[in-house]
Amino acid sequence: MDIDTDTAINLDTAVDIDAGRLLRDLDELARFGGRPDGGVDRVAGSPADLASRAWLADRLAEAGLAARTDAAGNVFGQVPGARPWLLAGSHTDTVPAGGRLDGAYGVIAALEVLRTLHEHGHPAAGALEVVSFWDEEGAGPASAGGLAGSTAMCAGDHVRDLRAYLELHIEQGPRMERDGLELAVVEGIVGIERHQVVMRGAANHAGTTPMDERADAGRAAAVVAAAVPDRVLGVDPAMVVNVGHIEFLPGAPNVVPGEARLVVEWRGARDDSLLRAEKELSALAHDTAEALGCQGEIRAVSRKPPAVFDPGLCDLVARACRAAGGPAGRMHSFAGHDAGVLSAHVPTAMIFVPSAGGVSHSPLEHTPEPMLARGCRALLAAVAEAAGRGPAGTGGTGGTARPPRGEE
Ligand SMILES: [Zn+2]
Repeated sequence: MDIDTDTAINLDTAVDIDAGRLLRDLDELARFGGRPDGGVDRVAGSPADLASRAWLADRLAEAGLAARTDAAGNVFGQVPGARPWLLAGSHTDTVPAGGRLDGAYGVIAALEVLRTLHEHGHPAAGALEVVSFWDEEGAGPASAGGLAGSTAMCAGDHVRDLRAYLELHIEQGPRMERDGLELAVVEGIVGIERHQVVMRGAANHAGTTPMDERADAGRAAAVVAAAVPDRVLGVDPAMVVNVGHIEFLPGAPNVVPGEARLVVEWRGARDDSLLRAEKELSALAHDTAEALGCQGEIRAVSRKPPAVFDPGLCDLVARACRAAGGPAGRMHSFAGHDAGVLSAHVPTAMIFVPSAGGVSHSPLEHTPEPMLARGCRALLAAVAEAAGRGPAGTGGTGGTARPPRGEE
């Protein structure tokens, strides 16, 4: 390691990103799979995706950097001959009819940061590796469900060379704009749980069965669907909750439903909130079933635990955001990112810039150009400071990371 770990690196004003080049490269990348409405069709593995990866490797080479593609399809870039340990990037695949910034911004910004440091002969250049992960979105017909490239990398040997991961991304929601923030330190990614509620009653004639003699499973399910948001928010008002699927059986207008099923999904940053929400749903389902002469049962469909980012690296990123001059806040991501995968292996942090109107996964995805430049400057400052501290100064080798719990 030829990084001097004892010397703090302060960005002097001469070392600055080229905002015009950043924006031009974002425009150029958006041409791969570009749509007339301004959106992008660049699903992982599509000809447009493969061409954009070849283009990225060319951009790296043009900057005098070494590009390589691993067996999973991830594209990496670094200073030739260096031994980088600080990874920064995101993904360049999109959903169908996606936007030009989701993922692409984090990759091009990381490229711009590495190019800038390399051009100035800055010692942080040798510590930094840029990545465009393969198939983050999981939108293709043959996709294994997303986060494929980061998951593959973390299952291989290369992750052992790394000591930190930084990802710059658009927020994809309205919170920053609402709160007047131009930058945000992302402290983690919310956990996502899905639970199915099954109500069992007695199917019967909807005309001849007196109201007080029904065991109406549909009504019981509807009561749960209407009541569950308030019960979950009562546990933790920062959570979000959704009943996105409900089904009545046999499902005829003249039959009292004998069985009904619904799926409740909630997302929250805190393990204890996720657990208490499940207890609330269980109590609600059983109480409702009992009151309406039915039997209620809940079962977990899937549980994705929250990803917790490294507190020390988050503090460093907060200082970098201040150095970049934007009003910065702290928040959790309600969408999944490659950073969630990395955080189980190395100290990880993310930076968000606002999404205009909270719109993402849409051709209308937009962030004002000055904010894109500011986010890239925050990434530059974070990389320089982390590199200046050396591998041990970024939070260790995963001391706060924890192994992921499997989905159920
Ligand atoms: Zn993304």
